[in-house]
Amino acid sequence: QESAPASQTIRETKTAQRVWDFKKTREYAELQQRFEENMQLSSNPYFVAHDSLIRDTSLVNGREVINLGSYNYLGLSGHPETVAAAVEAVEKYGTSASGSRVLAGEKTLYQELEEAIAAWKHTEAAVVLTGGYATNLTFIGNFCGEGDLILYDSLSHNSIVQGTQLSRAESKAFPHNDIAALESMLQNIEGKYTKVLLVVEGVYSMDGDIAPVPEFVRLKNKYHTFLMVDEAHSSGVIGENGGGVDDYFHLNPTDIDIKMGTLSKALGTCGGYIAGSRALVDYLKYSLPGFVFTAGISPPLAAACKKSVEIIRRDNHLPAKLHANIAHFVKGAKERGFDTCRAAESAIVPVMIGPDDLAFQISSEMLERGVFVPPAVFPAVAKGQSRLRFSISAAHSLEQLDRALEVLEEVMALHAKDLKTDA
Ligand code: PMP
Repeated sequence: QESAPASQTIRETKTAQRVWDFKKTREYAELQQRFEENMQLSSNPYFVAHDSLIRDTSLVNGREVINLGSYNYLGLSGHPETVAAAVEAVEKYGTSASGSRVLAGEKTLYQELEEAIAAWKHTEAAVVLTGGYATNLTFIGNFCGEGDLILYDSLSHNSIVQGTQLSRAESKAFPHNDIAALESMLQNIEGKYTKVLLVVEGVYSMDGDIAPVPEFVRLKNKYHTFLMVDEAHSSGVIGENGGGVDDYFHLNPTDIDIKMGTLSKALGTCGGYIAGSRALVDYLKYSLPGFVFTAGISPPLAAACKKSVEIIRRDNHLPAKLHANIAHFVKGAKERGFDTCRAAESAIVPVMIGPDDLAFQISSEMLERGVFVPPAVFPAVAKGQSRLRFSISAAHSLEQLDRALEVLEEVMALHAKDLKTDA
């Protein structure tokens, strides 16, 4: 098909209705529509304020509730040792790096944190960025470019998908954890691309299942690709020592080329890292736009995070407690007949509900009864597959987990009819 003559394109551009008041944009109209839909909901589940530490409990509207929604998987946010490290650092360095690390913001503390992460992840080096989301975006967006191919799991986090779009590489999603489907895609790549990047997550953040990483390692070796694993929900969580996928599957240190993780979950702070070979990390430190052109992580966060890694590596009591809590909760949920989707040994345990409104309602009724658990709805999950997303922490007691299950059972019973017909 021939393209339209330039004169016509110009005419069309001229007739397009220009808006210069944000309230008149399509984007704002869409937000208004969402608000209207939310008004029909029994309650608004968004932006619930927690005005306290979020560990086993938190304060909502001045009332203490059992918190099963946070990512504080090991209870390291608010842990006395990480708090002390943060306080010491804030007194020494202040609150900001006050510049890009490349030029004016570097600190020995940051280098020590990166060495600690690299040692923990069994890699030669690591680089720390200011956000987990930003880490995926800038890494994937710049590691690959035209002439490259990115193959990523269909349930990948939005930061991975956005990174592929930024990169301008060719990209395709393969069906979730489907090794055979991925292999058939890989069979056609010979001679076509300069680099091929496979991206998977250690633990999937909506279903809570663990990726079959050794299978991906086999494919990357057979087809000569790079393998990146986003360990946002697996680092500090799975494996006997909470070491993540390497620890869980007993992998060799170099099986995964790019180990990405966030600092905001098990490590209890905020930021992201890429751990890998010295060559890769050297390149990133001089070239990655989301590292070079932005200020370094806030010093108290870096100090708290370094302490978190030290605590996890000291002994395995926190991962062991987390594992015991997860097993207890999943067993209790199954005994009560709840559908826990693909929940395995990860700290995310979904309980399937079905329709969005029901998930919102059950979540709000649980909060009224003293248990905070957020709903996960479309577009985070497929339409009609809304769920409550329980996040288990080492900070919970078994009694708190039992109480949450009791409350869930009570509230689910109130909706038994809707759950049967709709879910
Ligand atoms: N990757 C995955 C798989 C995630 O689930 C998330 C956040 N939930 C991120 C990256 C982004 O991490 P952060 O929230 O620390 O920016």
